Amino acid sequence: MPYTLDQLNDATQAEAEQMLDGLYEHTPWIAAEALKQRPFRSLAQLKWAMADILARSDVEAQLALIRAHPELAGKAMVAKSLTAESTNEQSKAGLTDCTPEEFERIQRLNADYNAKFGFPFILAVRGPRGTGLARQQIIDTFARRLDNHPDFERAEALRNIHRIAEIRLADKFAAEPTLGNAAWDAHERLAQHSDPGFKEAGQLTVTYLTDAHRACAAQIRADMQEAGFDEVHVDAVGNVVGRYKADPAVRHPKTLMTGSHYDTVRNGGKYDGRLGIFVPIACVRELAGAGRRLPFDFEVIGFAEEEGQRYKATFLGSGALIGQFNPDWLGQADADGVTMQQAMAHAGLNPADIKGLKRDPAKYLGFIEVHIEQGPVLNELNLPLGVVTSINGGIRFVGEFIGQASHAGTTPMDRRRDAATAAAELALYMEERAAKDGDSVATMGMLEVPSGSINVVPGRCRFSLDMRAPNDAQRDRLAADVLERLQQIAMRRGLNYRLEESMRAAAAPSAPEWQRRWEAAVDSLGLPIFRMPSGAGHDAMKLHEVMPQAMLFVRGENSGISHNPLESSTADDMDLAVRAMQHLLQAVATETTTK
Ligand SMILES: [Zn+2]
Repeated sequence: MPYTLDQLNDATQAEAEQMLDGLYEHTPWIAAEALKQRPFRSLAQLKWAMADILARSDVEAQLALIRAHPELAGKAMVAKSLTAESTNEQSKAGLTDCTPEEFERIQRLNADYNAKFGFPFILAVRGPRGTGLARQQIIDTFARRLDNHPDFERAEALRNIHRIAEIRLADKFAAEPTLGNAAWDAHERLAQHSDPGFKEAGQLTVTYLTDAHRACAAQIRADMQEAGFDEVHVDAVGNVVGRYKADPAVRHPKTLMTGSHYDTVRNGGKYDGRLGIFVPIACVRELAGAGRRLPFDFEVIGFAEEEGQRYKATFLGSGALIGQFNPDWLGQADADGVTMQQAMAHAGLNPADIKGLKRDPAKYLGFIEVHIEQGPVLNELNLPLGVVTSINGGIRFVGEFIGQASHAGTTPMDRRRDAATAAAELALYMEERAAKDGDSVATMGMLEVPSGSINVVPGRCRFSLDMRAPNDAQRDRLAADVLERLQQIAMRRGLNYRLEESMRAAAAPSAPEWQRRWEAAVDSLGLPIFRMPSGAGHDAMKLHEVMPQAMLFVRGENSGISHNPLESSTADDMDLAVRAMQHLLQAVATETTTK
């Protein structure tokens, strides 16, 4: 019989320790320590408590826990001397059926890894969905993690140990994350559609209005219909719009909007944007399945375009809803010379109808968005969810220093006009200046010496500047300092420069009442409330211009890497995101009916 949380809370310390036996391999003290904090409101709270205890213990205790684990597909597995839990996990991942070559490779990786780090390689081989990673995925992860810095890898081993404990705990309590599993599977299905050239390489790329993009729209539309939405359609800009209607008896005049984008960057991740579509779909599926309605209309939108990959314009999907679609964009051509106008015609969309997509903000309660964090913070803190305080404002420039190309051998150091060292100097200044703010960031992501040679002093150097801060004034001070330094560098080095502002986006602080609702939702799950700014831009930024908004972040695995195929999230974290949104919807339902 699976345990229940009440049983755990009511048991004696000794009984409770027995119930949690085996969560952390040969290391019962972690659970024993955490159990002193009973009663727990949720298993999520217990998991957080255990992770927190380990995070606060010394490095020796952490290493002892890591070393208590067996090698993957190691001698203990062959000799069948593993714990029951480890045997289950290693066989679920198919490690007991390795080919001789795979086994050989893993043994070599084990040896290299141990030599470098001094502890065994630990991987939650049941993976983000709990059903087991493929052997090739395991070997690839193993090889990749060998390159990590030792401090980082120790932390990564601990994160994997917490994930192993999470799965073992779910087994003990029959706490399958069913809502999260469904959401996870939906992402897998959607990720089958990828643009030509990328699909063959096993990469995910879905850019605006390609066939793969339209297949995604069709899939999301079908998912919404299956979930029980009352109205689903694809609008004139390609957004998939679903509406779950209010209970007519108590219908509030305003609608709550949520959503995120389904396009991707080139060779991107499966969760960026899409999580913010599948989480609310899961909520509607639960409501519809239970025959329940909210007192307000719930509008869920899969935005067609956010990433600006095929055309220069970005936020086409959410921008259209606030009346920001510029008809001039229709003339933009993609890399193959296909204009946006032609792409729309091919997709059966009528650009003339885009104007009509503009929403009347007076008819909306607000906008909420769930998004994968796309950064390392939650992962590092062992927190599944974070509440966004503000979407950072940003400003971008593309520029060029113009000096004098000259012979690298014959031009003395004091007679050079080196454009590349000027850019390097500027990059170092940006790094120092942004760090001074604490929460600003500045990046020179593009740096190029056009047709440079090994024996020529660079005469030209192109570069980009990207600067972001939680509010506009801070962003503007940062940018002003960087531009002033740029001028000084050019003057001192005798260079000309060109500089063009290519993007300016206002910061979007969360609406306090919506941020509070997310906070209450996170708290209701027994999790600590962690507030953080969003470093990346999101669709919520656009809706922010016309209505209150607030976002919820979900932890990304692999240090939160995003815009990359390694982007990952677990079914358990998605489950928490769905339940957070359910809580928020219920809270808004209560507020709107009692007001
Ligand atoms: Zn995104």
